[in-house]
Amino acid sequence: MRIVVLTGGIGGARFLVGVRAYARSVGAEVTAVVNVGDDVRMHGLQICPDLDSVMYTLGGAADPERGWGRVGETWVVKEELARYGAEPSWFGLGDKDTATHLVRTTMLNAGYPLSAVTAALCERWQPGLAMLPATDDRLETHVVVDVDGERKAIHFQEWWVRYRGDVPTHRFVFVGADAAKPAAGVLEAIGSADVVLIAPSNPVVSIAPILAVSALREAVAGGPAPVVGVSPIIGGSPVRGMADRCLATLGVEVSAAGVGRLYGARADGGLLDGWLVDDTDAGAAVPGVTTRAVPLWMTDETATAKMVEEAIDLAGPRTGDAERRGEAE
Ligand code: GDP
Ligand code: CA
Repeated sequence: MRIVVLTGGIGGARFLVGVRAYARSVGAEVTAVVNVGDDVRMHGLQICPDLDSVMYTLGGAADPERGWGRVGETWVVKEELARYGAEPSWFGLGDKDTATHLVRTTMLNAGYPLSAVTAALCERWQPGLAMLPATDDRLETHVVVDVDGERKAIHFQEWWVRYRGDVPTHRFVFVGADAAKPAAGVLEAIGSADVVLIAPSNPVVSIAPILAVSALREAVAGGPAPVVGVSPIIGGSPVRGMADRCLATLGVEVSAAGVGRLYGARADGGLLDGWLVDDTDAGAAVPGVTTRAVPLWMTDETATAKMVEEAIDLAGPRTGDAERRGEAE
């Protein structure tokens, strides 16, 4: 079986830990298609927060408390930059992390596409699945805000890290999306997938920028593989993170049903065949989509692998193991 997962950073990475465990138990192959909308160039370094969150988490090197970056991180470079008054000073640039950004930037400057650079970095971290950026082209999420009485577009990182999303916010713009093509390998992975899963990542700033690559969206929405999404909202709360602020900006209800309707049914030009929600949200209805309620708290690998099994099962007989399905039904 081949599984493709559309994913953002921290929430997606935790989900992928469960996907990997499930895949190992059934002998499936996994490709993660990762958001690049958060990517930014700072101090001359190309920083890819979601790719790094996934890579470090699956590589066993993520800081579990902070959620992003490396465990056992030190901050000498950041402190030294601050002593020079070098901006932006609000961005957390760890020393260990900096080595990753240096290798990546050097390779990008030498002309390698981001997908090849990511594969090279993964040789060290051995994430246990294939990691692909959604696109090798520049695609950045910018946010239209009012700051100091002025309306302007700022990079998503500035919106979130500097302002904590706490400024009047009008909309999100995926700069470069119109011209962006899927990264090398992405269309092949989606085209040969038995199932496409949408991780319980932020729908507005993690999943939407991936789908803003039009050929990628068409491959998922019009492809042969069933598409099952996992709700990032449990009982009206985003668990952790900022999905509530992002959804509010779009005028979308912060609920499992709200996000399900935002993705929409494939039959109506949307994306979903199946939508997995938490037990708390058992009543959530999305027209044209098969909904199933199971526990969605990603407390550990076993609980998350169980969620993944439910998502695969929801995708239908084409993907599941015939015998196991026979027992279940
Ligand atoms: P980011 O790119 O680092 O912000 O991470 P993602 O976009 O991949 O995931 C963030 C989202 O994961 C949050 O907005 C939450 O809605 C969701 N999330 C976090 N923990 C859980 C959990 O235990 N269960 C579910 N269902 N969703 C979660
Ligand atoms: Ca992110």
